[in-house]
Amino acid sequence: MTLDVYQLLGRELGPSRVIRDEERLERFLIDESGLGRYPAECAVLVESRAEVELVLRLAREHRLPVTPRGAGSGMTGGALPVRGGIVLSTERMTAIREIDEDDLLAVVEPGVITGDLIAAVEARGLFYPPDPASLASCSLGGNVAENAGGPRAFRYGVTREYVLGLETVLMGGETVRMGRRTPKGVTGYDTVAAIVGSEGTFAVATEITLKLLPKPPAVATLLAAFPDALAAGRAVGGIIKAGERPRALELLDRATIDHLRGRAPYRFPEGAGAALIVELDGAPEGLEAQLLRCAAACEAAGACELLVASDEQQRRDLWETRRRANPTLKMLHRRKIPEDVVVPRSAIPEMLRRVDAIAAAERVQCATYGHAGDGNLHINLLVDDEPGDVARDQAIERAKDGIIRATLDLRGTLAGEHGVGLLKQKYVPWEQAPPLLALQRRMKRAFDPDDLLNPGKIFP
Ligand SMILES: Cc1cc2nc3c(=O)[nH]c(=O)nc-3n(C[C@H](O)[C@H](O)[C@H](O)COP(=O)(O)OP(=O)(O)OC[C@H]3O[C@@H](n4cnc5c(N)ncnc54)[C@H](O)[C@@H]3O)c2cc1C
Repeated sequence: MTLDVYQLLGRELGPSRVIRDEERLERFLIDESGLGRYPAECAVLVESRAEVELVLRLAREHRLPVTPRGAGSGMTGGALPVRGGIVLSTERMTAIREIDEDDLLAVVEPGVITGDLIAAVEARGLFYPPDPASLASCSLGGNVAENAGGPRAFRYGVTREYVLGLETVLMGGETVRMGRRTPKGVTGYDTVAAIVGSEGTFAVATEITLKLLPKPPAVATLLAAFPDALAAGRAVGGIIKAGERPRALELLDRATIDHLRGRAPYRFPEGAGAALIVELDGAPEGLEAQLLRCAAACEAAGACELLVASDEQQRRDLWETRRRANPTLKMLHRRKIPEDVVVPRSAIPEMLRRVDAIAAAERVQCATYGHAGDGNLHINLLVDDEPGDVARDQAIERAKDGIIRATLDLRGTLAGEHGVGLLKQKYVPWEQAPPLLALQRRMKRAFDPDDLLNPGKIFP
């Protein structure tokens, strides 16, 4: 019976778009989470909403699980087909259908690479702020499903703030359009907000209407080096108390800096124990004064070196250095176990102290960087041996648990922007009480009563 579904899909879409041979299928069975490979029957490369409808209709009729997949850059295993079945890939749905300069919006297919949209709108003097560090490789459908953020979220907010409307297909093949093209609108429940961040468990997004902004006329970037991360944490508070609202406030700790030495374009000063990248935008006349106030706040917190990017190339080098943090840690260690937690901004210094203590107690190497302006820290446990050494694996598990406990103790949240997926399911009940878990299970049933769309995700 199941074979018939795949044959039917092959007949409708052409056999080259219904991938079943092992070699071609392989890349659809993994993602960037490092959680390994999960087998599936096939990957279907859809090119239109009608094809998504067909896949979801047949899958429901035959009770087959479907895992939506964008570009596979997810860090928590959201796109892994844990129950097998069909991987539904939107990587061929890459049309930017509309960029409306009057109404400041773009209409896109879900497979558009985020950086491609950013470049296309900037070429027209417009601005799409959400800028995940993976923007060169992740897709807007994945960004919507994960409610992706990035450095610019501090001033401009995350993906949720930009999704005006969605065309979605539910499990079973029914198309539901929701939202609007206008900046305001409160008709009915905010179903768009429910889909954003639902990790592909409610519906497949087939078209996304995104709010745009005018492109800021000027940008200025500053890198401040500090003796330690606590001083950098103090500078974050100082900048905000000075009344400044940079568009990005990014933190790199000593271990991250040491890993990046000689492997990224920016050369950190010897002995730098932490760094902050501060980026401002706005009218060119006011930028210099703002920059000076941020620099003064960094100096007051103990900065040992300040560098203002003097041209576009230096700016790009600073950001390239920041973006290399994740791939460099990954390249240099056998296992990089990422945590993506958020604490109230004022609790960053205390959180960093606790992370150091946990890492020392469990003898695990650790490197932290992240969006300090939002209190969003990417804490990476770095391990050089394979899993299997029981005592070692228990120490890693205790370190992970300790980081989540510290986060919740400081009134933070366990997932900042990478979602829960598979990786963090165990911790969801640590943060959310049973009535909220039960309500969310009922929401899932309303969208997908048979639990066939991306099953086995988010909730344990
Ligand atoms: C080096 C690196 C840096 C990163 N930096 C950031 C960062 O700064 N900020 C950040 O937020 N994330 C970051 N990420 C994580 C990742 O890039 C984001 O989560 C991104 O939004 C995933 O997009 P994707 O297209 O790769 O989605 P995938 O990994 O393919 O899928 C992610 C989830 O989205 C669902 N999905 C995908 N498309 C659809 C669709 N059309 N409809 C419904 N559900 C769908 C999938 O089912 C899955 O649950 C980073 C990852 C890497 C590897």
